[in-house]
Amino acid sequence: MTQKISVVVPAFNEEKNIPLFYARLKNIFANVSKYDVEMIFINDGSRDRTWQEIQKLAHNDAHVRGICFSRNFGHQIALTAGYDIAQGDAIISMDADMQDPPELIMDMLEKWHHGCDIVYARRKNRKDGFLKKLTAKMYYALLNNVSEVDIPRNVGDFRLIDKKVLNELKKCREKYRYLRGMVAWVGFTNCFVDFDRPNRVNGETAYTWKKMIKFAMDGFTGFSMFPLKIASYVGVFVIMTGSMMFLYVSYDFLLNSTPYPLYKWLVILVYIFIGVQFILMWLIGEYIGRIHDQQKERPLYVIREGINYVA
Ligand code: UDP
Ligand code: MG
Repeated sequence: MTQKISVVVPAFNEEKNIPLFYARLKNIFANVSKYDVEMIFINDGSRDRTWQEIQKLAHNDAHVRGICFSRNFGHQIALTAGYDIAQGDAIISMDADMQDPPELIMDMLEKWHHGCDIVYARRKNRKDGFLKKLTAKMYYALLNNVSEVDIPRNVGDFRLIDKKVLNELKKCREKYRYLRGMVAWVGFTNCFVDFDRPNRVNGETAYTWKKMIKFAMDGFTGFSMFPLKIASYVGVFVIMTGSMMFLYVSYDFLLNSTPYPLYKWLVILVYIFIGVQFILMWLIGEYIGRIHDQQKERPLYVIREGINYVA
């Protein structure tokens, strides 16, 4: 029995990489007959001939499917569009620039056959600059600490997911999409294959610092309410220190009869009151957090299997 595999490839200004990518993928599956492979390219508003290259491939090979966006919607949205039309039993997402070596696909499929529902490709060592390495490390450590689900580190969007994972993922229609977090949120079993991430073959990365910061914020706000809770810590700290000051001044005034002018009392009271305001801000934040959570409209739960169970 052949199994259907979908390879989803978002592409933004990748005219040179598309034919190379196609050839490499074809080569991998050349001697394997048990898979029926579809390749889905999403042209994310490229300004070069990416779409023409995709069209050319699709004309000659019915296994190539393409979507052309009306403008640039961003990598995560392009990936989502590919996921939406993928028909495979396993779906693999990867870059068009050969930074995600297609040769790894066989290892991923192997793990999938052994019952792993999500196979992440994990980067063993990054070739990025010092600053990017450091910020990435700090970011993932922080995100992991505050996130409601375990988002694996050193993992990008190169992964295989089983069809059942995809079906659940498709129910999550939130607008700010941090797919690697969403996949972790869905659950099921996961495992890793390790690889060295090579440099881009042609062109340059579209992930500028600005886009990366936005992406990092999507990860935070999508999977953690921690930022909203900061106000509560500040509030408690301010009220506690303010109360101590107040106690000290009262004690000094009552027992030692030290005179304190009115404005000194007021400064302490205002200080305490600022703490109260922080607590109120945190309370408002909790409501906003719940609204935010609600509007994501993720499913309430995900079922792995049932027994004597009718859906
Ligand atoms: N990409 C996209 N839309 C964008 C930016 C990037 O579809 O707005 C694609 C790009 O063509 C590539 C993948 O997403 O296939 C990852 O982007 P890139 O290689 O620039 O990121 P990096 O690997 O440097 O993180
Ligand atoms: Mg890349």
